[in-house]
Amino acid sequence: MRKILVSTCLLGEAVVGYRVRYNGSDTPCTDPRFGRWHAEGRLIHICPEVAGGLPTPRPRARIEVENNRVVTVFGNDVTAEYERGAQAALALAKQHGITLAILKQSSPSCGSRVIYGANFIDQVPGQGRTAALLRANDIKVFGEDQLDDLERELAQDDR
Ligand code: SF4
Repeated sequence: MRKILVSTCLLGEAVVGYRVRYNGSDTPCTDPRFGRWHAEGRLIHICPEVAGGLPTPRPRARIEVENNRVVTVFGNDVTAEYERGAQAALALAKQHGITLAILKQSSPSCGSRVIYGANFIDQVPGQGRTAALLRANDIKVFGEDQLDDLERELAQDDR
């Protein structure tokens, strides 16, 4: 059975027992397929930002594309923490032989199609640090808005 790496915030407090988003919330994925994959024991979760050493709650952050840095709304450079979290996610994926991931869209760590832009709120095309590192290591990354695509990937196993 193929396992899937997922953002901890998509499982949510009811499942993991704590919240990890920057604002102290969670954002559980309510798609029944996500619940089924969880029940099947496929989902391995990580919050890269917490794994990288950041607290919850924490300041909003964004990728400063021009400098290849991650900065908070207060101007602090948190690139090292984001990189550490991305490496932790990759290590976890390798540990479980994972080649598929469902990561929370928009995040400077987990975003896979869009990330927060210059005002830390609007979404712009791009990918977060963890999504980029996973892809560079041949892991297919989908957002929670792309479960159809992931379902097609899993269906290939049944052919
Ligand atoms: Fe969720 Fe990823 Fe942000 Fe952690 S880093 S709160 S898992 S989107």
